[in-house]
Amino acid sequence: LVQIAGLSKKFGQDVVLKDISLDVSAGEVLTLIGPSGSGKSTLLRCINLLETPSEGTISIDGEAIWNSREPGSRLSAKRLAAKRSEIGMVFQRFNLFPHLTVLENVSIGLTKVLGKTKSEAGETATHFIEAVGLSRFLGAYPATLSGGQQQRVAISRALAMRPKLMLFDEPTASLDPELVGEVMDVMRMVARTGTTMVVVTHEMHFAEDIADRVVFLDGGRVVEEGVPSEVLRKPRHERTAAFLSRVL
Ligand code: ATP
Ligand code: MG
Repeated sequence: LVQIAGLSKKFGQDVVLKDISLDVSAGEVLTLIGPSGSGKSTLLRCINLLETPSEGTISIDGEAIWNSREPGSRLSAKRLAAKRSEIGMVFQRFNLFPHLTVLENVSIGLTKVLGKTKSEAGETATHFIEAVGLSRFLGAYPATLSGGQQQRVAISRALAMRPKLMLFDEPTASLDPELVGEVMDVMRMVARTGTTMVVVTHEMHFAEDIADRVVFLDGGRVVEEGVPSEVLRKPRHERTAAFLSRVL
């Protein structure tokens, strides 16, 4: 579903991603781990072109969304917007609209981006809000919800767009410890529906229980990748072992 080849990203002189090649299959749950500053967020942001790659190619569902060799082949703004709407993203901070209710937060993309009618959007939104266990809060404003509930709304908002791919950037990192579990449960549920997911997380239990594959980034490079039981329990590289000894 996602094909990344020879991806590099520079900020000025700083090379923060170096020659990354990575494929994600449809239905796969891939976890990205690595030290702070290793380029995890930048890689996610390149996948939906929130950042412009410096080099390399990225294809989603067989369509090149970025090819640094052929700048002429770049997608039109319209095509890019359509492609982006196929990719859901959940951030560390929940980024809900504070002046909109839960139902409105989840509906707005459906009407504004997908052009659904208000009633269609309301129905779909209600379904996905129920799926994350928050039907009691349809009319509530974000500020009245706990962090875990807000993040579940953010996940349901992304899911309601029926994305082909879901990107999560440390979705539990700003939550109080007792709220991490409920968000992880929702992500487990999403994984079970066969959604393709790329998850940056420090929750190694999530990686072990849910992920099909773990990719360890360090210094902007893929140092090691494989099934969780191998990478997390029997890392082949010194740097992976050193990182894991600090976080496990
Ligand atoms: P963390 O675990 O702390 O979230 P990360 O692995 O997500 O780290 P990134 O946020 O991708 O790391 O950052 C990788 C490197 O790129 C860092 O050195 C960071 O300072 C740099 N960087 C990220 N965004 C920018 C930017 N907009 N301008 C300049 N440098 C940036
Ligand atoms: Mg980050």
